[in-house]
Amino acid sequence: MSDTKILLDENEIPTHWYNVIADMPNPPAAVLGPDGNPVTPDALTAIFPMSVVEQEVSTERWIPIPEKVREIYRLWRPSPLYRARRLEEALGTPAKIYYKNEGVSPAGSHKPNSAIAQAFYNKEAGINRLVTETGAGQWGSSLALAGQMFNMEVRIYMVKVSYDQKPFRRSMMQTWGAEVFPSPTDMTESGRKALATDPDNPGSLGIAISEAVEEAASRKDTNYALGSVLNHVILHQTVIGLEAKKQFEKAGDYPDMIFAPCGGGSNFAGVAFPFLADKAAGKDISLVAVEPASCPTLTRGHYAYDFGDSVGLTPLMKMYTLGHDFMPPGIHAGGLRYHGDNVLVSQLYDEGIIDAIAVPQLATFEAGVQFARTEGIIPAPESNHAIRACIDEALRCKESGEAKTLFFNLSGHGHFDMASYDKYFSGDLEDYEYPEAAIHEALDHLPKVR
Ligand SMILES: *Cc1c(COP(=O)(O)O)cnc(C)c1O
Repeated sequence: MSDTKILLDENEIPTHWYNVIADMPNPPAAVLGPDGNPVTPDALTAIFPMSVVEQEVSTERWIPIPEKVREIYRLWRPSPLYRARRLEEALGTPAKIYYKNEGVSPAGSHKPNSAIAQAFYNKEAGINRLVTETGAGQWGSSLALAGQMFNMEVRIYMVKVSYDQKPFRRSMMQTWGAEVFPSPTDMTESGRKALATDPDNPGSLGIAISEAVEEAASRKDTNYALGSVLNHVILHQTVIGLEAKKQFEKAGDYPDMIFAPCGGGSNFAGVAFPFLADKAAGKDISLVAVEPASCPTLTRGHYAYDFGDSVGLTPLMKMYTLGHDFMPPGIHAGGLRYHGDNVLVSQLYDEGIIDAIAVPQLATFEAGVQFARTEGIIPAPESNHAIRACIDEALRCKESGEAKTLFFNLSGHGHFDMASYDKYFSGDLEDYEYPEAAIHEALDHLPKVR
């Protein structure tokens, strides 16, 4: 067996997802309705199937993965774990660097891990139509793929600026049979409201979520699917970390530190939470969420109740937030521009169990290019954040002579993001530090809870 690429057999795809709630020191903060009282599961079934709602609040440690879902996972899972020997050599570090390649899925990222599961549960509940939003197009293409696998109709509200800038992501969704509209549209109340204030509104993830949720809530035959943030999404993503644990066992190694890019928290939680079970049992391991300096949700946001969308249609979640009306600067890691974070990720960060750092944009592309030139794979701009943080740690190890084992999640490939690389090479990319004043201002707009 090669010790550069550590593979598992198809039958080693996990049979259960791991639910971190079972190993958290405190129960998760309740999700609240508009009246300030905890939302009941019933309230969520207007837009989600009951099986998904149950997963959202489950306290069971292990949740079985349906055989039909595992069967589709086989198209690309188990994903390979690599030892990045050429990168280690280029850095001259005594540290060992490993990465898990989630870019091998048909859509090119980790997102199908949840899209397939969500489509399955909706189909099982008799739903044949799904709506969602997408920013850069990673989630939209994953749900389009999943819809196709289960013969379902999929409609996608795509943030207008990305719709115009990423025509090939749009074509991908169309290839997999989905309908795609530039958001804000005039098809929903939320969209019309956004257009009334600004006819040239470039859109945002928050507005697109409002449009999709509004449509799902207004139609009995239609449900909503979200690509990050919610507990059931991060649950589905734990296949990444569960596989990685088996792969480290095969390699006879174990990570000291894990890095993953963090937008809504799903790939970070997916790779890190299965290791948190070991940490809860006394193992010394640090789990580091890496976010952009331009959207520093965990590192500079407020830990408070806030809406998940910009209009205020969703229940209130206690999370790190930059404010639901946050207008993200146009950085080139579209998947990391969300104003909030998953409730469990937020709480574990607040309790000091996981760590977070923010990195500036230019340095992330520099790291991504170094990775591509040594390991060969061109990473998604989101993944470059984890690579940056991992390389920085490897360079610290070089200074100190420590031979740490470092592990990062390569959440996706960058084949549809070459326009961003282009900007980087032509010197048109800039660093952007989210202003302190905007962070203070967000406090005034947070919903008042009791
Ligand atoms: C969506 C996305 C992310 C960020 O989303 P999380 O839910 O935080 O994982 C990171 N990397 C890639 C490639 C993505 O598509």
